Amino acid sequence: MNVISLRAFNDNYIWLIGNGRQAAVIDPGDAAPVSAALAERNLELVAILITHHHQDHTGGVRELLAAWPEASLYAPAGERLPAPGATALADGDSVALPGLALELQVLSVPGHTLGHIAYYGNGMLFCGDTLFSGGCGRLFEGTPEQMHHSLGRLAALPDDTRVYCAHEYTQANLAFCHAVEPDNPALLNYMKEVAKLRQQDVPTLPSSIGREKAVNVFLRTAEPAVRATAQLQAMEELNEDCQVFAALRRWKDHF
Ligand SMILES: [Zn+2]
Repeated sequence: MNVISLRAFNDNYIWLIGNGRQAAVIDPGDAAPVSAALAERNLELVAILITHHHQDHTGGVRELLAAWPEASLYAPAGERLPAPGATALADGDSVALPGLALELQVLSVPGHTLGHIAYYGNGMLFCGDTLFSGGCGRLFEGTPEQMHHSLGRLAALPDDTRVYCAHEYTQANLAFCHAVEPDNPALLNYMKEVAKLRQQDVPTLPSSIGREKAVNVFLRTAEPAVRATAQLQAMEELNEDCQVFAALRRWKDHF
């Protein structure tokens, strides 16, 4: 089984899980790159998995289902379903894809949207717009408390979990992390690595939970250096990790 990135729009990634015969895709905002990849590799589409309702994650669903009527569609129970016949998923559910020898657990991770879910299994995390490398999703619908809790759930997964985010935002996110925590050696090393990859137009993803815990300030709200910078920026004392998170998220919105 392998996972490949398909580019869509400016900076989206649609992730395709394939085993040489069958394939599943996560968040196909556009059908065209998926159809091309399936044809090129002679794969049968068996499942479409959606993390949240935004158009750049769901826009290709109906066209793909028209071409692959047997494919199963999975989407969050808490949001408008992207097409009729979808299986609505809530926290604790799992998705079995026997043809791909894969079982994915569903984690409820509200914040970016209220019904946002992530899929976790086989050492892989597909987290949509919740966790990015070096960043996290904007709070379009949820509260800072919800997002902080959701990120905490993801950070509790094993360090070697591969993190498949839905956007190539890494380089800009790391510039923000650097403004918050300029002396973090792990961050400085990762910035160099990412600069090289982007120069060669290579995806910086997947990341890993261990790496994100080392560099991503939104997962580092308990670090004294992160808290100190957040307090300076917010011009108030921040006693709880969640307050540090909220201050960082507000700052990042206009960084
Ligand atoms: Zn989104």
